[in-house]
Amino acid sequence: MSFINLGKALWEGARKLIEAGDAADAEKAGSLRAGNSGMIGEDSDGHLICVSDSPSGCPRKTYLRYLGIQDKVDDKRVNVERMFMQGRKSEESFRERLMAGLPEGYSFLAEEDIPVKWHTRSGLAVTGRPDLVILNELGERVQGIENKCISSVHTATKVLFKKQPKVGHLIQAGHYAWQLALPWDLWYSSGSEYGMNAKYKYMPGPGEPGSEFLAYWDDGRLRGIPTPEMGYNLRWNEAGALEFRQISHQGNILGEWVESIVTLERIIAFYEFVAGMPSSGLIGPRPQSQSADGSEVGFCPCGFCALTPVCEKHEGKGLTKWLKEVLKSEFVVDMRKQAK
Ligand code: SF4
Repeated sequence: MSFINLGKALWEGARKLIEAGDAADAEKAGSLRAGNSGMIGEDSDGHLICVSDSPSGCPRKTYLRYLGIQDKVDDKRVNVERMFMQGRKSEESFRERLMAGLPEGYSFLAEEDIPVKWHTRSGLAVTGRPDLVILNELGERVQGIENKCISSVHTATKVLFKKQPKVGHLIQAGHYAWQLALPWDLWYSSGSEYGMNAKYKYMPGPGEPGSEFLAYWDDGRLRGIPTPEMGYNLRWNEAGALEFRQISHQGNILGEWVESIVTLERIIAFYEFVAGMPSSGLIGPRPQSQSADGSEVGFCPCGFCALTPVCEKHEGKGLTKWLKEVLKSEFVVDMRKQAK
């Protein structure tokens, strides 16, 4: 009896899907993407800083994507991208439930039906596709949604109990809210239960506010977080800052509006900076994560980026030299060459 090696088939399948996605993405080379989700501003000493939760919000990575230069598809990347593939399945469930639960006559548009596009001062296009825009019974656009998957207990506790949506997600959703001039929601969903045998100090006990997100054993000990789901209403205030307010999976408003560190000025500055890289010759600051309300400065996303050795060695030498070293490295694929 012989077996098809399904583990191998699934792994190779994931690799092929990523490569196909990269090829499709490279066809959009020559424009900047709203999904890159970085912000550029100044710190209190006047130094340029970039705020982002991931390497995709780094100006250098954004510039490479603009050129059509992608991360190589190695085993490490396949492992990470499998998580995003599962996330897309979670989005399908979210849409199904939303369609069934919206008021009579309401519907929504998805991604390809609602492209957004604007231009930097130098004329470079910034493009994006929001997840969903809800239409009322008259067919008018009334609210947008960005849906993200919770894939770890860390994210679950952060978005549910610390009330801190990820800054990159706020930037992306806020970007679309600005472009389409609509109120927006950012929703976190997961189809998993996260078992826990110890609770964090900010997590509620049985019967306390927020305990609806948790499961407990009969004696009151925490059992875990079953299928976490949590939303945030988002709005731009008059000062150009994005505000958020938490809403539970059962529709309860769970607090006041909080002003985030995300500002329109910093989002636009990010794209203007990247668009100006060829003329300025600058490669920009490394990204640094911050909590949504600015209360904590977190990790450096460079730890998740294959280009760290290149940046460490060549980041002080200007854009031309840095780009040359990136292209010489084993970490990227130049899709422009593959297309020829
Ligand atoms: S290693 Fe370099 S390219 Fe990668 S995120 Fe950090 S600064 Fe950006």
